[in-house]
Amino acid sequence: MSEEHQSGVAEAHPPPPAPETATEIIKALALKAGGDVCGIADPHAWDDYAPEGYRPYDTLPGCKAVVVVGSRGPTAGAWRSPDSRIIEVNGYDFANDRAIHVVANHIETQYGFYAMQAPSLPIGGHQPPTSMMLAAVFAGLGTRSLAANIILNPKYGLLYYSAAFTTLPLVHDPLLEQNVCPHKMCVATYRSIGRTPCMAACPADEGGCLDGSIGEDGEIASAYYNRERCATRAMNFGINSFQNALNEMIAEDDDDTRAMMVNSDFVGRSIGSMGYFKDSVAQCFECMRVCPVGRAERKLK
Ligand code: SF4
Ligand code: SF4
Repeated sequence: MSEEHQSGVAEAHPPPPAPETATEIIKALALKAGGDVCGIADPHAWDDYAPEGYRPYDTLPGCKAVVVVGSRGPTAGAWRSPDSRIIEVNGYDFANDRAIHVVANHIETQYGFYAMQAPSLPIGGHQPPTSMMLAAVFAGLGTRSLAANIILNPKYGLLYYSAAFTTLPLVHDPLLEQNVCPHKMCVATYRSIGRTPCMAACPADEGGCLDGSIGEDGEIASAYYNRERCATRAMNFGINSFQNALNEMIAEDDDDTRAMMVNSDFVGRSIGSMGYFKDSVAQCFECMRVCPVGRAERKLK
């Protein structure tokens, strides 16, 4: 054991590269490790949007930068499958997470600065400590859309995001200057039929979740998203569905019917989704399937 370890003093690291160089290295590393995009957010960008306890420096004291990585989940081929249920089980699990682990390890082992994955799953209640939507916007990787507030990247559209907090000084990226949504094709559709493609796929006034309006300037004037309804339509299997099924099974007096319920596909899938995904994230992608943003990237031979 080295003297440093014996004395409890951290191993010495050479001084890190200048922030500009370190930023370039980190971004290249993230893309090589499986990310499609990478940006750096200022931890203080959260100050006006997230309450105390939900800002990066609340989780990692002294946080100076938030590295954000986005990756496409399902491949173009999975999007093309005629069975829409294929997409959820066909995402790469999860390239953005893998890339962010590589980045965090590199920062700690090579530069000797703290780094950790930003917690994007709830540790209590329903709110995660860090919003990946805010992270993606603050890193200049996308903007909020009319489709369930999903953050759309100008090149890829829907992406899956992970982030890392670090005390290493890095160069922060600016926010995108232009909103990605609505696409100009959607503005034309809205002017013609009063709905954008995503609103038409899931209209709030016909049992769906989406509504909104586009102003004269071609920007979003108002947006409506029924999150509770979307959850019941999009998340058929998971913790909630198991809780509902459990209630019904407990209340069932007939032994044979209860046994049939316990052994049903529905309960089996609910348990499977909890065990494998922790919380099954979505089984509906219809508003994104019709979105023109990123479609070019999914067009292959
Ligand atoms: S995910 Fe499905 S249910 Fe939710 S808003 Fe989109 S189309 Fe509607
Ligand atoms: S289809 Fe996509 S770009 Fe068009 S309005 Fe909906 S989310 Fe925005």
